[in-house]
Amino acid sequence: MPFKNLGLNEKLLQGVQALGYESPTSIQEEAIPAVLTGQDVVACAQTGTGKTAAFVLPMLQIMSAGPAIKALVVTPTRELASQIEQVAITAAAGTGHTVMAVYGGVPYEPQAKKARHGVDFLVATPGRLLDLLRHRDIKLDHVEILVLDEADRLLDMGFWPDVRRILHDLPHKRQNLLFSATLSKQVLGVLGDTVHRPVFIEVGGRATPVDLVEQRVLPVNSEQKLDLLIQFVLAHKPDRTLIFTRTKHRAERLALTLGKRGIRCSAIHGNRNQQQREKALEGFRAGRIKVLVATDVVARGIDVEGISHVINYDMPANPEDYVHRIGRTARAGASGMAVSFLTPEEVYELKDIERLIGSTIERHDLEGFDYVKRTIPESHDLPRRPGKLVYNGGARRAMKFGIRRKAGRK
Ligand code: AMP
Repeated sequence: MPFKNLGLNEKLLQGVQALGYESPTSIQEEAIPAVLTGQDVVACAQTGTGKTAAFVLPMLQIMSAGPAIKALVVTPTRELASQIEQVAITAAAGTGHTVMAVYGGVPYEPQAKKARHGVDFLVATPGRLLDLLRHRDIKLDHVEILVLDEADRLLDMGFWPDVRRILHDLPHKRQNLLFSATLSKQVLGVLGDTVHRPVFIEVGGRATPVDLVEQRVLPVNSEQKLDLLIQFVLAHKPDRTLIFTRTKHRAERLALTLGKRGIRCSAIHGNRNQQQREKALEGFRAGRIKVLVATDVVARGIDVEGISHVINYDMPANPEDYVHRIGRTARAGASGMAVSFLTPEEVYELKDIERLIGSTIERHDLEGFDYVKRTIPESHDLPRRPGKLVYNGGARRAMKFGIRRKAGRK
């Protein structure tokens, strides 16, 4: 279906053109008409599916003109805030709406000054938004549309008390859009307070981004992980590789070690300030840095095209993070490869991941690598680990909460 059949007006269709999109992604096809009707929407969609434009475009069309803030997007990370800002600025070019993002890690006053000057489309991370509210540098009493972007992440990162305070400052009558990669019990628990009789959209199910990615498990002993990684990177000469570690410290150390071995590399994690993160992402985008080492906290903010490989140097502790990590490759229809190192200590993590994605990932050895003897249990031989909760689909649970499911394609 072409964009022009979704109900967008001429100005927004020009915005679509400026963004360089030819045809809508599934989430855009479903969400744009729903948002345009003015109803609340709950959309279950991963980053990488085109969800940003799915809310930005219809919002710009139906919000009324400034000078007060009419549209508010709350998102968990600075990277996401600045990406949403970019999409909105491009899409809004012909509409007369003014867009800005506010987030922490950069000086307060310039943002406050610009916000006081008057914007009608505000993108914000919760902490900075609260600061601005406390200092009365902005008011939210004219907000017509609220987006909670990556609602599951907002919860995971402990932002819910902040979000509640923000909700308190919003007018009661407003349109609510909630986007979340997963509809965990936690997310569904907060829906009742936030959205009213929403249209429920689940696009592509949870497996879609995973389907496009070629996934491999490389069994290896812990002591050989580093050597295997170096040999893998040197052998594959990948274009852009994203490596995930479990901790900030490991990310930092790994980046240093790879650098010493002549691999152009940088690290990005929660301890890095905004400028450092942006610099690293910019270098990665431009191809100056071939390898970026990251932790899960920043994973969702990494919107870089052309990532050929995602390497899970450490298995993620949370199986859903596996899906978020590997979703950084195979963006918008491209293909990519995800490689996960498996040590004997991480077999349970792999078992949880395989349960979540519903398939066993193929084991491979790196050709020519001198493996020492390995004894790594098969994940399907392991008994189930007690007490571990795994996301098992949002739609059915959502029905229990009385959320209507929108008819149409998956
Ligand atoms: P998002 O899920 O919003 O983070 O978008 C993921 C990526 O898909 C971004 O790089 C977008 O620029 C791109 N994208 C979004 N919508 C489209 C579209 N309709 N056609 C092509 N690329 C798109």
